[in-house]
Amino acid sequence: MAKKPTGSKEKQTARLAVADETRKPTGDAGKETTEATASSSAAPTSQEPIDDTASQKPVRKVSKAPKKAVARKRSTSTKQDSQATLSLDSNATNSPETPESSSDVRQPLQTISKESDIFDVSQEMSEASSRTLEPSDPPQAAEQPMEPSQANRSPATEPEEHQTQSQDNERPLEPQSREPEPEPEPAPPAYQEPPRPSLFIVHITPELAGVAKVGGLADVVFGLSRELAIRGNHVEIILPKYASMRYDQIHDLHEVYKDLWVPWYDAAIHCTVYFGFVHERKCFFIEPHSQDDFFNRPSIYGFQDDILRYAFFSRAAMEFLWKSGKHPDIIHCHDWQTSLVPVFLYEFYQPMGMTHPRVCLTIHNFAHQGVTGKEVLTATGLHRPEHFLDQVRMGDKRYRQALNLLKGGIVYSNFVTTVSPRYAYETKDQGQGFGLEPTLHTHHIKYGGVINGIDYDVWNPEIDRHIPVQYGLDSIERKYDNKRALRHRLMLAENEKAIVAFIGRLDPQKGLDLVRHAIFNTLERGAQFVLLGSSPDARINADFWGLKQMLNDSPDCHLEIGFDEELSHLIYAGADMMLVPSRFEPCGLTQLIALRYGTIPVVRAVGGLADTVFDKDHSARPLHERNGYVFKDYDNAGLESALGRAIACYNDFPNHFRDLMLNAMRSDYSWNIPGQDYLNIYDYIRDA
Ligand code: ADP
Repeated sequence: MAKKPTGSKEKQTARLAVADETRKPTGDAGKETTEATASSSAAPTSQEPIDDTASQKPVRKVSKAPKKAVARKRSTSTKQDSQATLSLDSNATNSPETPESSSDVRQPLQTISKESDIFDVSQEMSEASSRTLEPSDPPQAAEQPMEPSQANRSPATEPEEHQTQSQDNERPLEPQSREPEPEPEPAPPAYQEPPRPSLFIVHITPELAGVAKVGGLADVVFGLSRELAIRGNHVEIILPKYASMRYDQIHDLHEVYKDLWVPWYDAAIHCTVYFGFVHERKCFFIEPHSQDDFFNRPSIYGFQDDILRYAFFSRAAMEFLWKSGKHPDIIHCHDWQTSLVPVFLYEFYQPMGMTHPRVCLTIHNFAHQGVTGKEVLTATGLHRPEHFLDQVRMGDKRYRQALNLLKGGIVYSNFVTTVSPRYAYETKDQGQGFGLEPTLHTHHIKYGGVINGIDYDVWNPEIDRHIPVQYGLDSIERKYDNKRALRHRLMLAENEKAIVAFIGRLDPQKGLDLVRHAIFNTLERGAQFVLLGSSPDARINADFWGLKQMLNDSPDCHLEIGFDEELSHLIYAGADMMLVPSRFEPCGLTQLIALRYGTIPVVRAVGGLADTVFDKDHSARPLHERNGYVFKDYDNAGLESALGRAIACYNDFPNHFRDLMLNAMRSDYSWNIPGQDYLNIYDYIRDA
């Protein structure tokens, strides 16, 4: 390993001491009691009915910011279209269990919680702009801002008018003797929101669609970064320089920083930083030169030292910002892999003078938290284990003496989001936080859910180059040319049957036993099934390979074990239904993409699935907003009921099914609204 001695261990220790004196991390004495209390109140019961009312509460509204000035591609629906309705079909009766949310999920930023938690972020914005939101800041009472209309009204006007009128009523008018009326005061100018300042935003991420994608995180960084840039912000992305990246997708890759030395244990690792464009996004790639070969591996994850690899990357990204003199307004990091970023900022870089950036952490999945031993502390220079292992900071709740990186991210960040309001509620209050419920309760004031968007430049059947025939709302019948192409490619029989598809990681989270059951149930119901998925777990892969062999002779079934982005486009376009029977689902992109392609989602009512798919027969939503089939209980009966209704509607009520497809295609899950939500959060936390 090429190591350069840092030579300043004493200096670093001195800095840490200063950090200790001046800024105490969020957890202070007394927090532990709060955590303990919160823990006992967060009763996890998967059997409990979903509380729709909770998600109806618009807890945090972030709605005052100006609308985007740039014209954006929107759904091409006509008014006539939007009035299209669906009628109930006879099959509706066989599924009683679908009370999905009737909440308006497009509500900007919601935290779903107790009524006592309710506050309006917009009220706090003026205050936020005048103070530094330190991780240790206690929640402060928000002052009620003056309504814009009040702020612009002349205080004298109203009483005077009132006075004149009452006098006039008392005596009759004598025009000759009347004084000439004074000229009416010119109306005050209409209130105008001040223009939003352009922000410098840096995403530090382990994944980016196009070059390094494992799951939805990659799509989110890809889509959100573009949306933020379109709105006039300066956006940069920092990610590891993986050997396994799609280099053909990087334009103009070149070295920009040759001598980055990143502190690591008692020495430092030499890194080179590259710059390149990934579909117009400005990206920096960090390449460490050491025997550890942190990113010089055949895949992105799946190694014993994953936690050390990403701890190093987080430190390297911060060191790069510091050494290159970048002081972004916002650092946006993602999941446990980059959760140490706010810790490093707070412990190392703020004391050195990097006081401007604020950190937003997005948690895409609570199932992975980066729980590890003390070694990471030694490696990264966080030299006080007893301090960091404290329960109010990064001490893991379940494994004492273990460090929980995601917890550190929550404690040290200025704002924490997860990827749907429903999942925010489930993780904090429904026992889905994998042990982090008490931490979320402690930090509830800076926690909320923003539903993901999808990038309509990539996922759009009107312009998708990966599919043989483009189509849209006005040419929906051309979707069936793609269905034929899909059958041809996967050697499925050409017939009248519906195609049910599953695309996703083969992870227990995705409801693999229900997927398995769905394959057979679909075939029994006279439909076809297509699966595209893979797993880093050899046993799961082997299991699905076995299934594939078992069904090899079926003309109505194809299982593709692997990762194939291009094929996924054809499946979204060619299938009739998309199955997402997850045990839990933070947001889920597959159902959002499917909607865009007029492929009807059949989903379980959890997390973001409940926030985005509304049952054709049982939703409280207006008929024209219903866009799929939803079941609640995680069991075969629940799945069969929803799947059965979907296939029956396809077979017996094709006009209803077509209306449902049109509704699906009209649903707007672009980055337009979530992009604004994130900007509002950035505005709320930024250093004005
Ligand atoms: P998660 O992030 O949990 O993996 P999401 O639904 O949020 O799930 O995102 C999954 C994304 O990955 C979607 O864009 C989906 O199309 C894609 N994807 C998943 N598995 C595959 C695969 N085997 N081949 C191609 N794309 C896949």
